[in-house]
Amino acid sequence: MMLVGYSSSSDEESDAGGVQAGVAPDHNKTFPRNCLQDGDGSDCPTTKKLKIEKSSPSTRLPLPGCLLSMFPEDEEPQTEDSSLHDGRIRSFKHERGNWATYVYFPSAFGVVLAPQEEFHLSLSQTVVLRHHWIQPFIQSLKAGLTPCKRFVSSASRLKVYCNAEKTRTFLGMEVVTGHAQLLNVVRVVDRTLTDFHLDTFYQDPSFHVSLAWCVGDFTVQLTQCLHELQNLVDNHEEEPYQLWLDCAELRCCAGNKTFRFPLDA
Ligand code: AMP
Repeated sequence: MMLVGYSSSSDEESDAGGVQAGVAPDHNKTFPRNCLQDGDGSDCPTTKKLKIEKSSPSTRLPLPGCLLSMFPEDEEPQTEDSSLHDGRIRSFKHERGNWATYVYFPSAFGVVLAPQEEFHLSLSQTVVLRHHWIQPFIQSLKAGLTPCKRFVSSASRLKVYCNAEKTRTFLGMEVVTGHAQLLNVVRVVDRTLTDFHLDTFYQDPSFHVSLAWCVGDFTVQLTQCLHELQNLVDNHEEEPYQLWLDCAELRCCAGNKTFRFPLDA
């Protein structure tokens, strides 16, 4: 079983690069005030790229390097070789222009076995967004989240999860406080997903942070050692181990872009 250090339970595009606050890096487009974007600056419209690709080689003038660098590739070359992804199997087929998208709270913490990594608490499933839907989707999320306030959540109950395709099993720590506030945020996210005709989150979500995962469905086997593992958590030093999550900034990852939504105190 591997310790989780990934940004999606399905599959992901490449990770985001540097952070640029408030402004889309290439076109100087202003992004929503409280929506910051990480990314590689490749926010170029797909149509522009297609025009470049479709012109015949004989009529094509060489583009100056400075222009080419304005339209970097949005998408990483994709590979279906699961051995290159720790054995993970893609949940849905990759198609050019489709951006795997999910919403989550980031979580940075240390557990006995894991170094600080990119742990997260999911508030959506991974859905597929067309590139031109990303900005209106983000605007919709931003508008819906305005009344949501920052809160603290805690998790301490180990639980086994399996993805819908039964291709990966997760050992997660389930939330014990903050459930009502998390449901509130899910309602907002679900509203946006519904507006975009995308699948909403679980009807009865079990909010959790995955700590470790393995390829395949090992629900039975892992559940058998859950009691023993929970004892380790409960008897941690002087008091039971509790995972505290400061839910101060919601994030939405779409392909290789990460949008941030700070919540008011
Ligand atoms: P995550 O660590 O958020 O990526 O979640 C790990 C896996 O748990 C995902 O593949 C989810 O589909 C799965 N899962 C199964 N049942 C639930 C549930 N009731 N609530 C949330 N996630 C679930």
